[in-house]
Amino acid sequence: ELGVNSRSAPSGTSLAERARRVIPGGVNSGQRSIPGLTDLVITRASGSRFWDADGREYTDYHAAFGPPLLGHNDPDVNAAVAAVGQRLDLCGVAVTDGEVELAETLAGLIPSIDKVLLTSTGSEATFHALRVSRAATGRRLVVKFQGCYHGWHDSVSLNVISAPDRVGVPDPISTGILPEVLDATLVLRFNDVAAVRAAFAEHGADIAAVIVEPVPHNVGCLLPDQEFLAALRDECTRAGSVLIFDEVITGFRHDLGGWQRISGITPDLTTLGKAIANGYPIGALGGRADLMDLFSTHPGAPAFFAGTYNGHPAVVAAALATLTKLRDEPVHEHVYRLGDRVRAGLTEVFADLGVDAVVTGYGSVFVSYFMSGPVPRTYDDLLRNDAGMFIGYRRRLPEHGIFELPLNLKRSHISYAHTDADVDRLLEATRAAVADTLAA
Ligand code: PMP
Repeated sequence: ELGVNSRSAPSGTSLAERARRVIPGGVNSGQRSIPGLTDLVITRASGSRFWDADGREYTDYHAAFGPPLLGHNDPDVNAAVAAVGQRLDLCGVAVTDGEVELAETLAGLIPSIDKVLLTSTGSEATFHALRVSRAATGRRLVVKFQGCYHGWHDSVSLNVISAPDRVGVPDPISTGILPEVLDATLVLRFNDVAAVRAAFAEHGADIAAVIVEPVPHNVGCLLPDQEFLAALRDECTRAGSVLIFDEVITGFRHDLGGWQRISGITPDLTTLGKAIANGYPIGALGGRADLMDLFSTHPGAPAFFAGTYNGHPAVVAAALATLTKLRDEPVHEHVYRLGDRVRAGLTEVFADLGVDAVVTGYGSVFVSYFMSGPVPRTYDDLLRNDAGMFIGYRRRLPEHGIFELPLNLKRSHISYAHTDADVDRLLEATRAAVADTLAA
C-alpha cells in the first residue's frame, strides 16, 4: 500500500518541494493554496478518509468542496467507469448512449430542466448560462449576490468573500478583468427583497439574468427566505429576465430534485456539477427548451457552445452510477441523520466550552460560525464571525485525525461513507482542538 508504514513511501515534504519548483505555488487551484498546509501531499483516498504521503490518516469532512457525496472511490462508481472503458472512450462526434440516458435522467429529476447540456466543470455551466441569457434577451446586465460563487470567469468573479470595507462596492477576486465586464454585474445583498425590487425598478429592462446559489454555501450556509426566492422569480418573470439557480452544490446533495424541488420555485435555467458524478469532472446546464435551443448544438442557433471533453464516457458512466445509487439507496436519509447529529453535537461542545458559536447548515452540510446568534441570513451577518477561531481550531483538527478546510467561512460535508463512529470522532476532535485554540 502507498503510504502506510512503507519505507519506500514518498515523503510529503520532498514531494511538496518538487511541486513548488514546477507548479506555481505547488497546487493546481487557488483554493488549494492554504497557509499551514503547504507540505501536505495526498496519496490515497477511500470512503470517509484520505491519507497523506507520510501515511497519516484523516477523516475527511472537506470532501473536495463537495463532490463525493457517496464517499471517496465509491466501488459502484469505479466499476461503472471501468466497465465503460472496456468498450468506449472519447470520440468527439455525434452522441453516445450514456449521454442520452444521463440527459433523460437529469430532465426527469430537476423540475426546470426540459433540455440539458454537459460540460466538464461548474464554471463552464454558469458561463454558458449567462451567455445564453444575454443571447436570449439582447441585454447586458447580470445580477449576483454578495457571498455567492459561480466559478472563475469574469462576469461572476466579484464579491464572493469580501473584507468588511469591500462589501457593497465592486470587489473583484482577480486582476486582469476588463472594467466594462465588472460594470455589467450588479451585486446585491442575499435575502434582501427590497434591494431586488429596487434593482429591477431601476434597471429591469437591461437585466439579462439573475444568478443565485439558492443556498449560498460558498460562505458556509445562508438559508434563503422563501419570500426572497419568490421575489426573484416574480421580478424575472415580469421583466423578462432569465432566473438562473446555480445548484452546483445544492443539486443532488440536498435533494434529487435540487433546491428548486425543496423550495417549489422553478428557475428558467439550472447549473449543476459536483455531486452528479461523485468527483469525476462534470457540469451541466439545463432549463427551458426555448432557451436551451439557442445553443449552437441546435442547427443554426446563435449561442456558441463547445467542449472537447463534454459528455466524456467515463464521466457520464460515473454520473449514471452515482445518480442510480442516490435514487436506490438511503443516501439522503443517512447523510441528513448524521448531519443532524453533527450539528446537535457541535452545539453541545461549544456550549460546554463556553464558546459563542452558531452551528448551522442543511442536510449533509455543516458549518460553525464563531459569533453569538441569531443564525445569519446575509453576508453582513457573517462579518461578526471570529475568523481567527474559525481557522485556528481547524488547523489543529489534523492532529486529531480530522480534516476540515482551514479557510474562513468554508462549509464541511458528510458523505454516505461516513459512520456514527466518524461523527463521534469529529465531536471529540473538535472539543480537543477548540480547547487547544482557547488555551493558545
Ligand atoms: N457554482 C458553485 C455554486 C460552486 O460552488 C462552484 C465551485 N465551488 C462553481 C459554480 C464552479 O464549479 P467548478 O469549480 O467545477 O468550475
